[in-house]
Amino acid sequence: MPPRSSPTKTQSIYAPRPCRLLSVTDLTPQEKLFRLQLNDGSDLGHRPGQFVQVSVPGLTEAPISVASSPDRHGFFDLGIRRAGRLTTALHALQPGAQLGVRGPFGRPFQLETLTGKDLLLIAGGCGLAPLRSLLQYCEDHRNRFGVLHLLYGARSPADLMFKEDLHDWQKGACFNCRVTVDHSPADGCYDGATGLVTGLLDDLDLVPGRTVAVLVGPPPMYRPLLDALEHKGIAKESIMLSLERMMRCGIGKCGHCSIEHLLCCQDGPVFWLPEIEHLRGAL
Ligand SMILES: Cc1cc2nc3c(=O)[nH]c(=O)nc-3n(C[C@H](O)[C@H](O)[C@H](O)COP(=O)(O)OP(=O)(O)OC[C@H]3O[C@@H](n4cnc5c(N)ncnc54)[C@H](O)[C@@H]3O)c2cc1C
Repeated sequence: MPPRSSPTKTQSIYAPRPCRLLSVTDLTPQEKLFRLQLNDGSDLGHRPGQFVQVSVPGLTEAPISVASSPDRHGFFDLGIRRAGRLTTALHALQPGAQLGVRGPFGRPFQLETLTGKDLLLIAGGCGLAPLRSLLQYCEDHRNRFGVLHLLYGARSPADLMFKEDLHDWQKGACFNCRVTVDHSPADGCYDGATGLVTGLLDDLDLVPGRTVAVLVGPPPMYRPLLDALEHKGIAKESIMLSLERMMRCGIGKCGHCSIEHLLCCQDGPVFWLPEIEHLRGAL
């Protein structure tokens, strides 16, 4: 477990940095993609897997994962589901609106450990948003990795996020990209795979000794996936997952996101499986 980061002297960790909404795009009926730019023109300075605390002036703030690679400059993306007060207000905003962000916070995906490995990247539902930052990073630095598998599952075709990206990833040479939905509608407009994301693993050729699995999705996805990965011979030490917890401060002060002795906002949200599997309520 790396040491927790401490605030820099020059910048208050409580002060949001002002940023401007460049564009808003519908992803699904309940999720939108927000493209933002810091008012001072600087890059956010994040690493894939980290999150920011986003605020609408006069309202509350919420943790949201960064959905774009740090190597795509001049903007950053957030994929946001309409859930409650803040996200409903965000969904009503138009380009040009002013927002605030604190961060980036949290422990990212450990890129140094992933370098040189085959990656098995698995997302469920809204989990494709945080994973997209790593996916773009892999695209931008393709020669740093071995085989790249991307497995993604959503409830229905309408719930598939980032459909244009998925189309590109399925057609392109970077990823072995497989997509499934739990249920396909009766209208015949969907001709892709159906079933749970675990089913996509069945006939996948993996080399366990050089594969690292990265999982991001809703809590019910993890147990069956971990069983399936064990069946495939992937060691626990080679499984990294991102956890979501109710969070307030984002900087390890309030304890709201604690999982026993760990704080999800600082020790996570990305963990290696052996760090958390024995903790009550972690999975
Ligand atoms: C590290 C991290 C990264 C996240 N990244 C994203 C992201 O990329 N995109 C996205 O859409 N959302 C993300 N979330 C979830 C988002 O922060 C919550 O949905 C947030 O509460 C929305 O704020 P709100 O004011 O709109 O809703 P609220 O009014 O706070 O809550 C709406 C409902 O969601 C529930 N809720 C709140 N937080 C969570 C949580 N963490 N897990 C489960 N249920 C919760 C509440 O109990 C309530 O029922 C992330 C959360 C964490 C901790």
